[in-house]
This record gives sequence, structure tokens and C-alpha cells, in this order.
Amino acid sequence: MSITTNKHITVDKADTSRISEVDFENLTFGTAFTDHMFECDYKDGKWQNPTIKPYGPLTISPGAKVFHYGQAVFEGMKAYRDDESGRVFLFRPEENFKRMNISSKRMAIPEFPKEYFFEALHTLLELDRDWVKSGEGNSLYIRPFAMATQVGVSAAPSNEYKFMILMAPAQAYYTGDVRVVIAENFSRSADGGVGFAKAAGNYGAQFYPTNLAREKGFDQVIWTDSNEHKYLEEAGTMNVFFRINDTLITAPTSDRILDGVTRKSVLSLAEHEGIDHEVRRITVEELVNAAKDGSLKEIFGSGTAAVISPVSAFSYKEQTYDLPKLAAEESYAKRFKKQLMDIQQNRAEDPFGWRYEV
Ligand SMILES: *Cc1c(COP(=O)(O)O)cnc(C)c1O
Repeated sequence: MSITTNKHITVDKADTSRISEVDFENLTFGTAFTDHMFECDYKDGKWQNPTIKPYGPLTISPGAKVFHYGQAVFEGMKAYRDDESGRVFLFRPEENFKRMNISSKRMAIPEFPKEYFFEALHTLLELDRDWVKSGEGNSLYIRPFAMATQVGVSAAPSNEYKFMILMAPAQAYYTGDVRVVIAENFSRSADGGVGFAKAAGNYGAQFYPTNLAREKGFDQVIWTDSNEHKYLEEAGTMNVFFRINDTLITAPTSDRILDGVTRKSVLSLAEHEGIDHEVRRITVEELVNAAKDGSLKEIFGSGTAAVISPVSAFSYKEQTYDLPKLAAEESYAKRFKKQLMDIQQNRAEDPFGWRYEV
């Protein structure tokens, strides 16, 4: 083992790489991790001992608060490699950093220092650079997360935490045709709750309603507001866009809606391209009417994992509505997906300054 220290981070390098054991042509999303991981502990009122070490299991007391109260948050971001030059880029990492601390604050987890976050990303991507594959749709998924590690089952915030970053190679995520059910009873988040935070428990709470949708032959749930189930808010774990005639509509962010980086980027692209777009509340009724009169052209989800995920049908009150099949050049979903991926993979100009070289 060779141990070195960067500006802040101690690096304990893996003796050998596991990269040759990974079948990059047949990856199951998020199951094979790179050679190294980042770990930093919060103790005695400060984040300390930032370390990069070989990827491997942790030893945590079963009494740690994360297991009892779910005090945990995470982020999701990606690194991309330019096919020609081999340069490696992140996409708007500052946004993920800021959001991680917004989520942490809501979950009473101490904010993480920016210099550690960025030094960790740079160092990990230097060590595990070979894991970032070039080629259409290939990327390295990056998962920062933080959890309460203090031992004790008293229901009070922890005074010890662990912040970690894992990285996993990912391939183009072909979601195919996504069929969704509009939620009539279940809610993802509520006013004053934690819907705007990437809190681990938000996901756990979605699995059961999503399973019920699966049993009926659908893939995901479109979440509606928890008060009246009247307004359309998010799709699965993605933000959601509707195209009625040629106008793109998405809900405004609120304490129930996650402020997605992909969502913001789609809105900037729409603005840049002169596509009509409205950030406003949209009702289920408006959607159903638009489906009936033929003005509903598209529904798509946006998120880091799948970039853009087109919806082919939605169900509401036991009625299924199919979306029209648009030619590729007609589809806003395909257009935004291509534009985003071209910027991410350094194939297109980046008028917004979204790429961040590492
Ligand atoms: C992470 C997430 C998104 C997508 O955010 P991106 O920054 O675009 O990846 C949307 N909705 C929810 C609930 C999320 O957790």
C-alpha cells in the first residue's frame, strides 16, 4: 500500500485494480464500483480525516442512528469522457455540491466543506480515470452520501456522521417505453416535508406504490400534490415535463419537488432554442383533456441517470391514454437528450459553461 497526502486528503492506494474483472459491455447500473472510495468522518464538531482508500465494506455498529431513523442524504452525478481527446468532464458539479448541503441541512446533518468535496472528486477521478469509458452513453456514476453513525437509539440527531463518495461505471440507460400511473392516493412528499431534499427515505417510501403500479403493468408513478392529488409534480425519481401543442410545461420547484440539475438544464436549453416553455402548476385535468383532444404531444422525465426518459402512456382512474408516436426529429425529448449528451461528452459547444474538466 502506498499512502500519500494531497492538500487535505490522505490517499491509501489499492495494490491492484479490479478493472479487468468488470464486463463494461454488460453493466447492471450501480453494482460494480471502482477501485477507490472517499470517506470522511464528522466528530467533535468537525469533518475530519478525509481519506481515499480501496473500495470495500464498512464496519458500523448496528446501533448507529442511520439504521433506526434514516438520517441520510445522497447525491447523483456523472463523469464523462470525450471520445477524441480522452479528457474527462463532470456536468455542473457545483449544483450537486450545493444541493447535498441543502439536503443535509433539512436532515440536520452538518454541511460538508466544499474544498474536501472537490478535492475528493479530483483525486478519485485521477486514481480511477480508466473507469471512465468513452463512447456513446457511457459514463461513471458518482454517488456522494452522508449518514448518521453515532451509536444510540435515542431519537435525536446524531453527533457523528460519515460522508462517502462511491463511483460506478454506467452504460446508456435505455428505459424504452415508460408507462406511468398518475397517483390518486399515495404521495411522494408533502408540504413542509423533505421532498426537495435527496433524503434516503424518500426513495424507500416510493417502492411500495411503484410496486403496485408494476403489478398493473406500468413502470413508474407520476406523483401529484399530497393535498388534493390534482397537480402533476414528479415522475418516479425524475422531474417531469409535458408538451402540449408546442409548449413545454413543468411544475415550479417547491418544498415537495426536487430541484433537478437536468430539469434546470432542459429549461435553459428550451430558452436558448426559443421553445415555448412555462414553469407553472399543471393539473391532471388539463393533461387528460389535452390527451383527449390530441394536443398532448409528449411527457418525459429528466434526471442524471437516464438524462431524458420519454413516457409512452399514462393511466388515470383506470383509463389508459397512449401518447402519439412522434418522428425522431419532432420529439423534444430526443432533441434535449441529444443536446445534453453532446454537451456532457464534449461533442458540442457549451454556451452555458456546464462542463467542468477533471
Ligand atoms: C435526483 C432527483 C431528481 C433528478 O435530479 P437531477 O439533478 O436532474 O439528477 C428528480 N427528482 C427526484 C425526486 C430526485 O431525487
